[in-house]
Amino acid sequence: MEFLANENIVYTKDKDISYIQFKKLLEYPELIHAFTVDKRFNFKTASNNEKDKNYDIAINNYKLLCRNLNLNFNNSIRSDLGHTDKVKIVDEVKAENFDITEDKYDGLITNKSNINLITTSADCIIFLIYDSINKVIANVHSGWRGTLQRIIIKTLIKMHNKFNSNYEDIIICICPSIRKCHFEVDYDVFEMFYKEFKYDNIYEKKGNKWYIDTILINKLMLLELGVKEENIIDSNICTVCSGKYINSYRKDKDNFKLNTSIISLVERR
Ligand SMILES: [Zn+2]
Repeated sequence: MEFLANENIVYTKDKDISYIQFKKLLEYPELIHAFTVDKRFNFKTASNNEKDKNYDIAINNYKLLCRNLNLNFNNSIRSDLGHTDKVKIVDEVKAENFDITEDKYDGLITNKSNINLITTSADCIIFLIYDSINKVIANVHSGWRGTLQRIIIKTLIKMHNKFNSNYEDIIICICPSIRKCHFEVDYDVFEMFYKEFKYDNIYEKKGNKWYIDTILINKLMLLELGVKEENIIDSNICTVCSGKYINSYRKDKDNFKLNTSIISLVERR
C-alpha cells in the first residue's frame, strides 16, 4: 500500500479509517483536511429528500472521520452534487448535525472557521483549495461535465471577487481521480471536449475510443488564469488503477461506494 504515499501526499492507515493528506496543506496548522482511501466505507448520504438506510451508515462514517481528524462533526456541510458549475459560499451551517445544500452545487467556499466543507466522489476530480493569505478554503467536485463547464475556474473567480484572493496565492490540490489511462470515452464525449479545449497532448485515440486527460486540462486552465505551477499539487493517483484500495465507479460498477473529502479552517487556542 506504500504507493498511496508519494512526494506530494502522506497516507495514514488507521485501524479506524485510512486517508491521504497533502503535504503542502499540512504546512498550515489552521487547516485540517483529508481524502478517504478506504473501501470499507461508503459516504453516500444521498440528498435531503432521499434519506435511506445508507444515510445513517454514512453519517456514522462521517462522525468517525471527524473524530479521527479532531473536527467537530456538528459543523459539516456537504454539497448536493449535480455535475453543475455552481459554487456556494457558505457563511453558516444550518442543521445542527449534517447539512446538505438544498440546491445542487458542486463547489463550496468559506472563510469561516469551524465549518467542515465536504464533497464525495468515486472517480470524479475533487479539488481541495486554500488561499492562506485571506484564509479561504474550498472543496470542489469536477467530473468530466464539471471540467467541460470549467467549474474550477469559476470557483477561483468567485474567491477573487468575494474574498480578494489572488490567483497566484491559491493552492490547489488534486485528489485521487480517474486519469487519462482509464478515462475512455466515445466520440460524442470527445467531440464535446474538442469543442472546448484544443490544448496539446490532452487526447489520445485508440481504435474507436478516445482517452482524455481531464487533469491536464484543468491544470492548463489554472496556469492560464495565473495560478503558479508550484501551487498545483497533484496526488498523481488514478482511482481505477488503485481501485483495489479506493472506491471507483468504473471499477466497482453497480456496487460502487463513495469516497469523501473534507476541509476545515480551525481556530487554534
Ligand atoms: Zn488508471
